[in-house]
Amino acid sequence: MPQDLPPRPEPVITETMCEACVAVQQHWRRAKGHPELMQGTHRAVAHKHGSVTITKYRCERCGTIWEYENNKVNRHAGWSVLKR
Ligand SMILES: [Zn+2]
Repeated sequence: MPQDLPPRPEPVITETMCEACVAVQQHWRRAKGHPELMQGTHRAVAHKHGSVTITKYRCERCGTIWEYENNKVNRHAGWSVLKR
């Protein structure tokens, strides 16, 4: 099996997102969130290379729900928007 990374997903921008959320760099490992993201629950997900932690965040300004995946072997992990 070749160890190809999945392609980097397209960032999701919605009309209801505030400008701070729009500015978050999505699907990029170690990108920063913004100060109005409030940390929520997190869960461990089993992957081939071990388990990764996915933390949920909610923006206090616009209500967008985010997930941050901390995955050392996938540089396209990171911030992603959960559809509301
Ligand atoms: Zn926001």
